[in-house]
Amino acid sequence: MSNQLRYDGQVVVITGAGGGLGRAYARFFGQRGASVVVNDLGGSFKGEGQNTNAADVVVKEIVAAGGKAIANYDSVENGDKIIEAAVKAFGTVHVVINNAGILRDVSFKNITDSDWDLINNVHIYGAYKVTKAAWPYFRKQKFGRIINTSSAAGLYGNFGQTNYSAAKLALVGFTETLAKEGQKYNILANAIAPLAASRMTETIMPPEILERLNPDYIVPLVAYLTHQSSTETYGVYELGAGFYSKIRWERGSGHLFKADDSFTPSAILKEWNNVVNTRNPEYPNGPANFIEIAERSKTLPSNAQ
Ligand code: NAD
Repeated sequence: MSNQLRYDGQVVVITGAGGGLGRAYARFFGQRGASVVVNDLGGSFKGEGQNTNAADVVVKEIVAAGGKAIANYDSVENGDKIIEAAVKAFGTVHVVINNAGILRDVSFKNITDSDWDLINNVHIYGAYKVTKAAWPYFRKQKFGRIINTSSAAGLYGNFGQTNYSAAKLALVGFTETLAKEGQKYNILANAIAPLAASRMTETIMPPEILERLNPDYIVPLVAYLTHQSSTETYGVYELGAGFYSKIRWERGSGHLFKADDSFTPSAILKEWNNVVNTRNPEYPNGPANFIEIAERSKTLPSNAQ
């Protein structure tokens, strides 16, 4: 028990914590000494309606097990109210887990502006609003931990999910910039692309697979990344059913053309295999060094055919 990660004195805000993954996180942090804000709007997985019951049930579970928790029923689109509730009840906020989410799956041919906007509002604008409100507390106390919830659909694309994929990959960019801006204040930001049994996945997978996708299997990574001892930031992790892995960007070694009159489509065509080659890749956390590249491209032999 002595090497158990603990969160005593930590205030942990979890959005969408009335069910699925959020509930698993909330119960864990409640058991490990944290003060937990269980936020949930309580609507359907398509984002219809609202209900206080979802958050209330999880708060009851945490309190019954001897933990500290309050419920909050605001939409993440009003993220400032969620952080306000945390500060009112517990004085500050240390950890934000942007987990709330909905689906509006529809083919791109049939998607409407409202399908697009709703998904973007909940996933991107919601994560922005909650994090923006927590940020001044994080900076002032020189401590903050952020988990943003991406998805394999965002990393790789998925049929019927242009809206969801766009929003979920946006959260990776959001995470990467938060990690860069937050580093000197000990604000660490990571993104996860989980796979777990929940009402979002229960209709698309067979029961024997769902059994192996317990949301509790996602908790240890989130717990580790948000712990006071962690220094991990800027990460994107794909995980589920006990498999944990890190995803990163890859830049192929490419081909450098002389940027003069010889830099034509046919010159590119000739070197295409080199342009797209992924031999000797780099794993960058920033753009290519175009200043140095521009200097080098001046001195190359011409590409003229
Ligand atoms: P879930 O539906 O059980 O949980 C999402 C929760 O968010 C719900 O309780 C819902 O009421 C709440 N919520 C929705 N809109 C809200 C809003 N505007 N404000 C506050 N709360 C709101 O589904 P889940 O599978 O536990 O999903 C959790 C997160 O993980 C989501 O962001 C989802 O996109 C992401 N995700 C899940 C999987 C998976 O395999 N389950 C895969 C990839 C990504």
